Amino acid sequence: MHRLYEYGDIAVFWNSEKCFHAKRCVSGSPETFEFGRRPWIDLTKAPTKEIWQTIQKCPSGALSCVYTHEVDIRFEADKNRSAAYKGEELIGECDLEKTADGWNIYHTEVSPAYGGKGIAKRLVYKLIEAAERAGENIIASCSYAAKILGE
Ligand code: SF4
Repeated sequence: MHRLYEYGDIAVFWNSEKCFHAKRCVSGSPETFEFGRRPWIDLTKAPTKEIWQTIQKCPSGALSCVYTHEVDIRFEADKNRSAAYKGEELIGECDLEKTADGWNIYHTEVSPAYGGKGIAKRLVYKLIEAAERAGENIIASCSYAAKILGE
């Protein structure tokens, strides 16, 4: 299961398949990470610095994070994509097609001016999360998305 949590200036990625429940996250920021709560990660509960430092101690790599740089990520179901906006300017997108094998991510692109900020990863996570919530299988012919799926 892949989930993307975003609040304020931080975006947090969580891949449950890598998590082996060492629970360093829970001890590092108990208000933020609470197994059994829904959602189990609540970024409103602690300062960004505390959350960031806690995530760096996750031993499995299940948790990772980036700063959002005031870039908003949206799932646009009507356009079969996730999209990145700086204000109202479209600066990136990740596109899917619905196939007999599931949702196929075939294209991921971010404006070069915004490269290296984790935006592509946020876009891919947003689509994977949407597919999982819809009960759809997710595949990727886009090599970047395939790499994220395989991580
Ligand atoms: S610290 Fe990482 S591996 Fe441990 S419970 Fe939290 S997310 Fe899972």
